[in-house]
Amino acid sequence: MSKDYYATLGVSREASTDEIKKAFRRLARENHPDINPDDARAEARFKLAAEAYEVLSDPEKRRLYDRGEVFDFGDLFGGGGLEDLLSSFFGGGGFGGSRGPERGRDVLAGASISLKDAAFGSTIEVEFRGAVKCATCAGTGAAEGSRPVTCVQCRGAGQVRVQRKTMLGAMMTVVACDQCSGLGQIVENPCQTCRGDGRTVEDRNVLLEVPAGVSDGTRLRLSGQGEVAKRGGPGGDLYVELRVEADERFIRNGDDLVHRLQVGIAEATLGTHRWIPTIDDVDVEIDIDAGTQPGTVITLPNKGMQRLGRRGRGRLLVEIGVAVPTELTSEEAEVLRQFAELRDESISSSRRWRKAR
Ligand SMILES: [Zn+2]
Ligand SMILES: [Zn+2]
Repeated sequence: MSKDYYATLGVSREASTDEIKKAFRRLARENHPDINPDDARAEARFKLAAEAYEVLSDPEKRRLYDRGEVFDFGDLFGGGGLEDLLSSFFGGGGFGGSRGPERGRDVLAGASISLKDAAFGSTIEVEFRGAVKCATCAGTGAAEGSRPVTCVQCRGAGQVRVQRKTMLGAMMTVVACDQCSGLGQIVENPCQTCRGDGRTVEDRNVLLEVPAGVSDGTRLRLSGQGEVAKRGGPGGDLYVELRVEADERFIRNGDDLVHRLQVGIAEATLGTHRWIPTIDDVDVEIDIDAGTQPGTVITLPNKGMQRLGRRGRGRLLVEIGVAVPTELTSEEAEVLRQFAELRDESISSSRRWRKAR
């Protein structure tokens, strides 16, 4: 056990919970980041005291600690930073010094692309509805000829320091200004179009670069392209979920494409050749050898999908099926019957095949 939490708090091993609490309060007040801004050593002392208090104030954790049981006390606060630690003691927003301007909402939009576009990538237009900066007031929220005025309460900072009652007694903390909702400015004469909000909801479209090799359901993120925040504040992110349309010529299997090809029984038996469609839209000729069995796969390397984020392409697999006729003319049936006799195959005497035409 490397850390001595009792020494950290300056109490004996027999200290009561009350004594531990008192010791922690004193240390926390002395080293609190609000009182010692930008003092790394005070911050470290504060964190260590909080860690010691977290363990020793909990009877179960204290018992384990006293027995020297090893568990990761250092990660008590979920590996979070100082703000997480403070909010775990003083509630949310207890230390808002690093709070940035409010971001707009994220937007999820959908877009469909062809299998070919998924194979090679393309630039597409994505349409969605979302808040944009109001065009009338350019996002200020103020009516024409007027301007927002600086908030008197926070002097434009958007934040105010307030005293809060916490377990350590009264503490100064930073919260969003309630007069201006944290915006720092007040609109006295609101824009007619957006009623002072600084944004309007519009149909929008953005261009999206779809990388080669994407799959159905892939979500792409366009940072900052979502809805703008109040008064034209920074935009949220736009997520685009891609639907890859089915292509009747191919079944996708990862980076590979499968094309199903049906040949006749004579073709499979005697051999033939066929033109096969590819995702490149250039047909290629393949040989089907004499005696090809149903289920045979002919592999065409580098004719599949582009690999996402990597070089190279998957394969095009041509899966051969042999079509057994279900309709025969009497002439075809006669030829086939003679064939069967030559092969010594026993065929049913009943005429169960359907006559063609
Ligand atoms: Zn406006
Ligand atoms: Zn204010």
